Amino acid sequence: MVEGVKLLKNNNEFKHDKDAVFKIFEELKELGLTKEKAFEVIWMLQEVVPLLPDYYEMCSECECIYNLSEGGEYVEDTQKFYCESCRPPSVEEADE
Ligand SMILES: [Zn+2]
Repeated sequence: MVEGVKLLKNNNEFKHDKDAVFKIFEELKELGLTKEKAFEVIWMLQEVVPLLPDYYEMCSECECIYNLSEGGEYVEDTQKFYCESCRPPSVEEADE
């Protein structure tokens, strides 16, 4: 379907899971999907199939894709994910 993408587990282009997540996200946006729709597809590849690791989330503020295991968090109050730089300051205060 997409030129240059091979469905090989050891494809050199995808040394890390992150590369595959970002590549799919970018390709879906190029096909005209909104970021929300594109991430819905990523989510299905994480939770429904599952082919991709589930620790990649989309920040509800800046809409970037980030690795939840390296930073950022899910906020129960708002039921939203935030990357490290968009984390609401009130969350850290509430933890204390
Ligand atoms: Zn963010």
